[in-house]
Amino acid sequence: MRTFDYVVAESAAAARDLARGSAGARYYAGGTTLIDLMKADVERPQRVIDISRLPLTAIEVRVDVLRIGALARNSDVAYDPQVARGFPALAEALLSGASGQIRNAATIGGNLLQRTRCTYFRETRWRCNKREPGSGCDALEGFNRGHAILGTSESCIATYPGDMAVALAALEARVVVEGDAGERTLTLDEFYLPPGDRPERENTLAPGELIVAVELRAAPLYERSHYLKVRDRASYEFALASVACAIELDGDRIGQARIALGGVATIPWRAREAEEILTGTPPGDAAYRRAAEAALAGAQTRAHNGYKVELAKRAIVRALRTVCGGAA
Ligand code: SF4
Repeated sequence: MRTFDYVVAESAAAARDLARGSAGARYYAGGTTLIDLMKADVERPQRVIDISRLPLTAIEVRVDVLRIGALARNSDVAYDPQVARGFPALAEALLSGASGQIRNAATIGGNLLQRTRCTYFRETRWRCNKREPGSGCDALEGFNRGHAILGTSESCIATYPGDMAVALAALEARVVVEGDAGERTLTLDEFYLPPGDRPERENTLAPGELIVAVELRAAPLYERSHYLKVRDRASYEFALASVACAIELDGDRIGQARIALGGVATIPWRAREAEEILTGTPPGDAAYRRAAEAALAGAQTRAHNGYKVELAKRAIVRALRTVCGGAA
């Protein structure tokens, strides 16, 4: 059994001070990822800093921006009428994740930081570069049915497991973080790091930096959005492939498109080539399929995950059909 300090932070500044004082510190909010990984001996924090009492739960409109506090619970955000009306893909993504009990405990900030479900990462008898840098990766030649086909490297092919961040990528959300130099805001592309040769680094948070909110800018584009998740069973399961899309129609054509993929990439994956193909094009299956082909053009498969290429393409077509409705 490993011992660790447990401390309660009464303010964001105090939390950051406590984190600075311990190299192996972790923030604790809902605990739905951290505690699991501590039990599996994958996470070994020397200090656990309980931030669950910080006043970061509000979901509020500031001019044309919806600001969601980092400690808002997944279920509260999913059922918020402003989210359902302005950003339906976000509500759908949240409700497709985990179970009701977990959604009631998990927080928005913690959701952004959830870690991969790669079996070799979560079982300490296997070699894993993410868990122990430089040790090797047993997934490369192992059972990699669930692993990523986009954004991979020779060091790591772990899939980013979440749903919410995929929707946030398509909705062009910003992550607000607080550090020693004050607040800064990051796009999802700026927040997440693909594995490269440093798979242990998953995001660009500086040591001790705290996620305080997620911000979404209101726009008609995001009101016509949708999240589609394909998985082995209908509930309490991670995505094999998922698609978040937002479409704005301009007469009989697509004026703007945003597409992000989950379940197939190492980070929430923005499919910009697909977006460009759709822009200015009349809606319809031919255009959707061309976009899907472009989105998966760079896929690199392993022994057991080749099926994800066609699965993701079909998911893109289906999601676009749904979001464009009778426009085609
Ligand atoms: Fe570890 Fe990544 Fe390899 Fe999985 S794919 S074993 S997380 S290095």
